[in-house]
Amino acid sequence: MKLPSGASIPRMTPEEADRRRYLSHALLNRMHLTPAGDPVAYSLDGDGQTQYYYDPNRVVEAAPELWYRPAMETRETRTLENGTVVEKMNTRQAAARGYYTRERLNQMRYDVTAEPVAYNVRGDGSTILFYDKRAALRRPLPCACCGKEPRYKRKLCRACFERDLAVRRAQGDAYRAEPRFMDRSRVLFFDLELTGVYDHDEIISVSIMDANGEVRMDTLVKPLHKKKWNRTEKIHGITPAMVQDAPTLDELIPTLKEMFENADNLIAFGASTDYSHIKYIYETESEQEALHKKIRCAAIEFVRYQNEHFPDNTHAALVDAMAALGITWDGIPHSSIADTIACMKVWEALFPNYYTTPAPEAVAHGMTGIPYQLEGDSKLERAAHLAEKMNAASAAVSAETAAELLPDQEDDGYGDSYGDSYGDSEGEEPTGDNRDMEEVPACV
Ligand SMILES: [Zn+2]
Repeated sequence: MKLPSGASIPRMTPEEADRRRYLSHALLNRMHLTPAGDPVAYSLDGDGQTQYYYDPNRVVEAAPELWYRPAMETRETRTLENGTVVEKMNTRQAAARGYYTRERLNQMRYDVTAEPVAYNVRGDGSTILFYDKRAALRRPLPCACCGKEPRYKRKLCRACFERDLAVRRAQGDAYRAEPRFMDRSRVLFFDLELTGVYDHDEIISVSIMDANGEVRMDTLVKPLHKKKWNRTEKIHGITPAMVQDAPTLDELIPTLKEMFENADNLIAFGASTDYSHIKYIYETESEQEALHKKIRCAAIEFVRYQNEHFPDNTHAALVDAMAALGITWDGIPHSSIADTIACMKVWEALFPNYYTTPAPEAVAHGMTGIPYQLEGDSKLERAAHLAEKMNAASAAVSAETAAELLPDQEDDGYGDSYGDSYGDSEGEEPTGDNRDMEEVPACV
């Protein structure tokens, strides 16, 4: 016999089914069980009634409304035109097994594709047919805004998404264009290199510059506990030998504290990792909290910008921000100071009216504002393309070094691919538009 699911089951005698320890409906009902899958066999009794048998390993506890069901013992069935035998049951019993009428399934956005599996008779004598929801096809969800077209992105259809995007872009552009009246000498950009991404890892390099493009600190740091960091060494190129004669973080603390005290904002690309390490230059929580209030994350702002202007782009590492905003490297890419310069320029491009004064020539250098795409299918191809885009100062950098800067091709999530390119970086959740992806946007 062929089942609605397409499976074929053998006919056997009740004795044979019993020998195999198969369970009939009557037995299942007595044990308050219900099948978790198709029957595995059937028998025909003297009256031509079908008895189904179920595998005892594929049963689950029945819903309470099925526990006492006298009808089970004297089952009424009906043979459909195609020969399928269906059982009579009321709506509640049917629902407990996942059987519904065609109308109800349509309301639940399912299309009936299989034969009915049960029936009932109305008071007026007409027949109701039930269909198995598991054998029905789920229709795509409609747009959360117009309710008509199928969804494309952010629970919206293409047209509604485009309209919503235009509104968000306009809001984002207005937010970024707002004058902030910041003093260039009181806005600092910083980048740390670490022995790893965990709390117990240590800072081995600190680079800080102000929004005038003036380097305030660019030093290696000798860690107190860590002796080697093979994994991250490949990324930032800082070896244990290089930091042997460097100052310790303790020695830098007075300078750092003074610098931070005289700053209104401290900005980094992927600031949360950096903050979680640099905060320990302060001992009290209130001091750490005061520092936190000044921290801004360029990656979060870039992700918002990218969602509004390049919604199809998925990578959001520093190199991707530079490409999207038309910025080339100054210095050796991914050296701490080059990253800091790049971060400063990304911020300058994102917030053109952030400061009271326009960008000095040193800051505007290499900022064309003309976005370019990093091309290539493989990481090396993309890296080679990036190397091409670099200015003369960094042309010597090999494609292989640049490859370390690029997030993995396979990695399409913002969470991992922006900010530090450490493979196992936890990353922080961008607070831009990403966070409320699941919220239904207002209809515009
Ligand atoms: Zn729509």
